[in-house]
Amino acid sequence: MVGGNAIRGTRIGAGPVGESERGESAPRVKVSYWCANGHEATPSFAMDAEIPDEWECQHCGLPAGKERENPPDARRTEPYKSHLAYVKERRSDEDGEAILAEALQRLRERRGA
Ligand SMILES: [Zn+2]
Repeated sequence: MVGGNAIRGTRIGAGPVGESERGESAPRVKVSYWCANGHEATPSFAMDAEIPDEWECQHCGLPAGKERENPPDARRTEPYKSHLAYVKERRSDEDGEAILAEALQRLRERRGA
């Protein structure tokens, strides 16, 4: 459960405040990013800066993309993949057992011969 009313009440405060005061500063371009939860982040970049394809949402930490209708897959940062790690771990355990059994069998054969 991420993105409750408590979060909605907070403003995006991390933006470059006072930008307009310093009129002599280099021109900046504001880019909007949206995360999978619908949060909008509007960081601004120097005109000659390289604008990243993704931005980290300041509300929920999910990756945010420039396409509002097509935000980056949130699942990348979820601990969901631990299932795969678990399967891999189990499999390596089984492999380990098989290797051990094979080694023992070879040892017995060698002794028996
Ligand atoms: Zn978000």
